[in-house]
Amino acid sequence: MALVPCPDCSKEVSNKAKNCPYCGCPTLGLIEQVSPSKNLQSNQKEPLSKPKEMLIAGIAIFLVVGVILALANLARGTSTAPTTPSVQTKDPNCLYIPESSVPRGMSYGDYKEKIKRETGAKCVFFTGG
Ligand SMILES: [Zn+2]
Repeated sequence: MALVPCPDCSKEVSNKAKNCPYCGCPTLGLIEQVSPSKNLQSNQKEPLSKPKEMLIAGIAIFLVVGVILALANLARGTSTAPTTPSVQTKDPNCLYIPESSVPRGMSYGDYKEKIKRETGAKCVFFTGG
């Protein structure tokens, strides 16, 4: 309940009173004038709920990015896992190994068989490097 000035005698009157107790002037118009401001207040509440949604969206994006980064780290970890770091896979079934990576004292054929056994590759190729 709020006090509003009477439009006729400008004395303070309850906005719930239908008529001014001093001059009898109907104050219904004042109640109608007050209600739009209530609507404005309820409209102002809507933007307040948006930061919450943005916060939730932000957390969701943060989690998704975190999961992607974690998966990327896992993928990197498994890609560096093979025994020889110089191994390049151009064909998923074949390994391409630089000739320089063949250990001294081991023939190309023996090294090929060793790589095949260790990695399970179907074929091994030596590259010029
Ligand atoms: Zn009045």
